[in-house]
Amino acid sequence: MKKYVYLFQEGRADMKALLGGKGANLAEMTNIGLPVPTGMTITTEACNAYYQAGGKLPDGLSDEIKQNLAIVEEKSGKKLGNLADPLLVSVRSGAMFSMPGMMDTILNLGLNEQTVESVAKITGSQVFAYDSYRRFIQMFSDVVLEIPKYEFEHILASHKEKQGVKYDQELTEESLRAIIEDYQQLVWDKTGKPFPEEPLKQLFMAIEAVFRSWNNDRAIVYRNLNKISHDLGTAVNIQTMVFGNRGDTSGTGVAFTRNPSTGENVLYGEYLTNAQGEDVVAGIRTPQPIAKLADEMPEIYKQFAAIARQLESHYKNMQDIEFTVEQGTLYILQTRNGKRTAAAAVKVAYDMVDSGLIDKKDALLLVEPNQLDQLLHRGIDDSVKLDVIATGLPASPGAASGQVVFDADEAEKWAKNGSQVLLVRNETTPDDIHGIVAAQGVLTSRGGMTSHAAVVARGMGKPCVCGCDAIRIDYAKKEFTVGNTTVAQGDIISIDGATGRVIVGAVPMREPTLSSEYLTVLEWADSFKKLTVRANADTPEDALKAREFGAQGIGLTRTEHMFMGQDRLPYVQQMILAETLDERQAALDHLLPMQEGDFYGILKAMDGYPVTIRLLDPPLHEFLPSLEELLVETTELRVRGNNPALLEEKSQLLKKVRSLQEFNPMLGHRGCRLGLTYPEIYDMQMKAIFQAVARLVKEGYTVIPEIEIPLPIDVKEMRFFIERMAVLADEVKQAAGVDFSYTAGSMIELPRAALLADEIAEVAEFFSFGTNDLTQTTLGFSRDDAEGKFLSQYIQHKIFKESPFIALDREGVGKLMKIAVAGGRKTRPNMTIGICGEHGGEPSSVEFCHEIGLDYVSCSPYRVPVARLAAAQAAISTGENIGTR
Ligand code: ADP
Ligand code: MG
Ligand code: MG
Repeated sequence: MKKYVYLFQEGRADMKALLGGKGANLAEMTNIGLPVPTGMTITTEACNAYYQAGGKLPDGLSDEIKQNLAIVEEKSGKKLGNLADPLLVSVRSGAMFSMPGMMDTILNLGLNEQTVESVAKITGSQVFAYDSYRRFIQMFSDVVLEIPKYEFEHILASHKEKQGVKYDQELTEESLRAIIEDYQQLVWDKTGKPFPEEPLKQLFMAIEAVFRSWNNDRAIVYRNLNKISHDLGTAVNIQTMVFGNRGDTSGTGVAFTRNPSTGENVLYGEYLTNAQGEDVVAGIRTPQPIAKLADEMPEIYKQFAAIARQLESHYKNMQDIEFTVEQGTLYILQTRNGKRTAAAAVKVAYDMVDSGLIDKKDALLLVEPNQLDQLLHRGIDDSVKLDVIATGLPASPGAASGQVVFDADEAEKWAKNGSQVLLVRNETTPDDIHGIVAAQGVLTSRGGMTSHAAVVARGMGKPCVCGCDAIRIDYAKKEFTVGNTTVAQGDIISIDGATGRVIVGAVPMREPTLSSEYLTVLEWADSFKKLTVRANADTPEDALKAREFGAQGIGLTRTEHMFMGQDRLPYVQQMILAETLDERQAALDHLLPMQEGDFYGILKAMDGYPVTIRLLDPPLHEFLPSLEELLVETTELRVRGNNPALLEEKSQLLKKVRSLQEFNPMLGHRGCRLGLTYPEIYDMQMKAIFQAVARLVKEGYTVIPEIEIPLPIDVKEMRFFIERMAVLADEVKQAAGVDFSYTAGSMIELPRAALLADEIAEVAEFFSFGTNDLTQTTLGFSRDDAEGKFLSQYIQHKIFKESPFIALDREGVGKLMKIAVAGGRKTRPNMTIGICGEHGGEPSSVEFCHEIGLDYVSCSPYRVPVARLAAAQAAISTGENIGTR
């Protein structure tokens, strides 16, 4: 028969799946000799068996519980329900992952009308006994009988008022007795039965309530939110009570072994004298800082500090410890790894290596890569009171204040005049890029974490709050409203991209500071990682930023952003509207020197490192005004009839825009399909690259240009471009009188390209996975449609654990990637292969890239530190780094 019950002395810390986190740690602490009140744990498997049996205890469990209870009773020298010396226990839930607030703990179980008098006699305190009893009735009724807490609180409050006191612990014996009677009456009224008096019955009812609580609504919501599996089950801990409510030499508290917000190596926490259980967190009285314990109970403080040290060295991690003092004796009731801010995580990791407690590998595993992002951005100084009017999605970290502007052109204009602006829109499109560039941050009322605004803002390292549907924007009136608040254009608001908060007015900010600990920890990461980390950057400024954050190259330069600036757009439009090759060439001639300047700047900024430049990718209509806009304009012009020339011009434009309209732009005329139709556009870009390279080589820089073709599907297609590239390179070399080298490669972003990678590698010298498009085309999901309409269903039905646009879909997209890696390396064993989609900065995707043997990941500059750490963790946890430094 399966063993369902473990005494604390039978368990270990690594049995979290079976005993839950709390139970496993209670067992571990018992076995290293800490003062843990004795007890036992009913396993998570018992919980699952309870559900399999249709909501009753599985065969044999009740006997097993009674047998183990007998051992606990023997150890404690007390017996449940025994009038001479009654055992009281707590019943505590505890799953493998901590699920805060899931089920409240029941304390003082075993009390009834008889045992309460025994306790009073033994302790010599009627007040203590009645206080414990009324707490028990309240907790048990709330958790097991499901009678709302407030009904009890109401009774308690009325008696405090009657007696004329403020605090619970001031209540007299008489008041407490009266409260108990009112509580019992309430239970009668609500359940039609008396409060259960038989201690063993109380225990079994409590155990079943814990099992049931695994599937209550808030538990299910919490697990969905945190991606915790629903079939883990919860364990139940039954533990001998110790009492913090036995007067002034008793108390209860919670402390971290280090400061969880700064990482400083000092005990950090709070305690309350003469209090029990959750009084500390419940905020009934204001707790004392833990440092005060050193004055009030110096011996206890010393002992606790020593145990805190011991637990840290034992777990090799910062701990969060719950303790209780009963009449001068210290007991430890819980320990777990403490949650901490990014700054604290880095400092703790560094300090623990410094003091010799852990090695560098362990230290790197103590920092959550995603957290690092926080450190690179400004944040709101939370010590001041904030007027938060709405909360959206925390789409891009950092905080900003500025004047509200509702239009990208306007944002650009205001910024030119020296204003700090925040761009506020329902959503953004590629047309708004210049507005985002000009703004301090972006706020949208629609769209998710991977909406256009979010992706672009993250790329630029600007704060962004998305999908804030509480705000109603009226573009015509140039204002937005939230509830009763109206914010007009020009009013100042602040956004916090780390939490999604929208705040009225300006707020004080904290500047980011990169501590020396931070820099050192990332150097350690570099010494273990196998992947190179590059950045996606479109400007020299971004490239320099990326270098500063530790990027060793650029994995993607998107040239389309260079076409958007106000000095270029007219020529780009002229190029698109050209009727003849000559006309188009004339426009391209204007663009050539500008593009050359762009490439010159980026290649120079990345001196010594490779730079992958992608040729033009988006469909051409993105550079023209929208159809709706033109329809309105031409209609107005026609009605007014006063400017036939302009009407003619706009009508031509409208015709062109109509002809460029596509049913499905994502699968339409874009990528190298444009290059096939208009080779002269790609020729111009290649020539611009080579001329920039030639100049830089002459100036003595080390440039490593990698020219990348977007969206190819076939080797013949690649050949077409690569042959032209060779001709152009030779022409530029001749003209400039200088030699240089470059490589040419393919983005792999369509399934066909992945499948035929072995053939494509005959001419392509490198591959880069564009996993944004590869995910769309493998799944057949257009991202914006999926996120807006049906992706949530896929998460709900557990088809995907997480959005495949955030964490790489390893089974599907990943399989194509493996095929492409194998194919590419079969033909060209040493070919460089990387990834440049958003996934390149997401830790679990980085791990996958490490596993399938990519050479690099590339991500937005602000994600570079995240990727460096994630790459190191991937290398460490697969053990491949053994032997490195
Ligand atoms: P949570 O998961 O909400 O932290 P716990 O099971 O840790 O719930 O219980 C909350 C508090 O109840 C503990 O911090 C402790 O103060 C108190 N508690 C639990 N078990 C006992 C016990 N055996 N003796 C005294 N206090 C206890
Ligand atoms: Mg709880
Ligand atoms: Mg706890």
